[in-house]
Amino acid sequence: MTVPATVSGSQPLIDRFARAISYLRLSVTDRCDLRCAYCMPERMEFLPRAEVLTLEEMHRMALAFIARGVTKLRLTGGEPLVRRDMIELVRALGRKLGDGLSELTMTTNGTRLAEFAAPLADAGMRRINISLDTRDPALFARLARRDCLSQVLAGIAAAKAAGLRVKINTVALKGLNEAEIPALIEWAHGEGHDLTLIEVMPLGEVEGDRFDHYLPLDAVRRDLEARWTLSAGTVRGAARNAGPARYVDIAETGGRLGLITPLTGNFCEGCNRVRVTATGQLFMCLGGEGQVDLRAALRSDEPDAALDAAFARAMGEKPERHAFAIDRPGAAPALARHMSTTGG
Ligand code: SAM
Ligand code: SF4
Repeated sequence: MTVPATVSGSQPLIDRFARAISYLRLSVTDRCDLRCAYCMPERMEFLPRAEVLTLEEMHRMALAFIARGVTKLRLTGGEPLVRRDMIELVRALGRKLGDGLSELTMTTNGTRLAEFAAPLADAGMRRINISLDTRDPALFARLARRDCLSQVLAGIAAAKAAGLRVKINTVALKGLNEAEIPALIEWAHGEGHDLTLIEVMPLGEVEGDRFDHYLPLDAVRRDLEARWTLSAGTVRGAARNAGPARYVDIAETGGRLGLITPLTGNFCEGCNRVRVTATGQLFMCLGGEGQVDLRAALRSDEPDAALDAAFARAMGEKPERHAFAIDRPGAAPALARHMSTTGG
């Protein structure tokens, strides 16, 4: 990958509610090697490759965000590690660590981590989020529609061995992994990993009705409180920065549990993040339709000026809060696009 010329510094990204944007989630591909039933249908229609930004364009765009005050960058997807030469982008971005960027992270399903964990750590990555909804091979195959739990567990072990700080992300699903949640937490904490539970969100059409498996986390928390001693979470390093998760420490397991409750709790007030899709569409809110085309700006004759104008428009349009709801059986998704498009 050729490294582009530096991008000139510009106005910091501050929205009309005075929230400074310091965190970018960049989806590097919408493609994936799994088909998690709550995320996408088996026959998912992926974007034509020609529409997706090249790695050079992604790098240039990331530099533009860093020049405007973004200090934390998470690569996501789809599955980021299925994109060819992905590690080249990570290496190029890793060179900005300590030079504008304070943290470079990734959210991955772990299937390719056995191969890539050490190169990611070498590129400067220190933390990684790995999604795991169950440690039961049959349930994994049913939920992800691919029988590869052992591959994912090997990936998680490789991340630990490479010295990456691992956070496990688990979508809480009524009647599916619900009964396994305490065992998953015990396992993760025993391995030295934090674990965060996520409520299923109504993003994009899938085959089933997500309402059937929607599990509100306030109920899970009550259940866990009956079993263990939960106390308000300690602040640890950069991990607790205006994110949507609330954290609790569990005395008996000695670990930390995050709870992401987009549907039962409002986390928008301190929002410091934006998302960019693999086609360069800037979404100001995971739960909103508003988007600004950065690809057109990047490919214009005067990219710096066009990016400035695009960023100014985006900051004027970032909504105050999202408008999710998943409270009715059979309701259409709140948003037509899938989580794999905007990046989790
Ligand atoms: N493929 C990678 C992975 O699974 O970690 C990164 C992208 S994935 C879209 C990011 C996160 O979003 C995963 O933890 C996944 O479980 C979660 N996710 C996907 N669809 C979701 C939905 N409809 N509601 C809540 N979480 C969802
Ligand atoms: Fe792929 Fe991640 Fe969606 Fe699962 S949650 S289908 S791993 S993008």
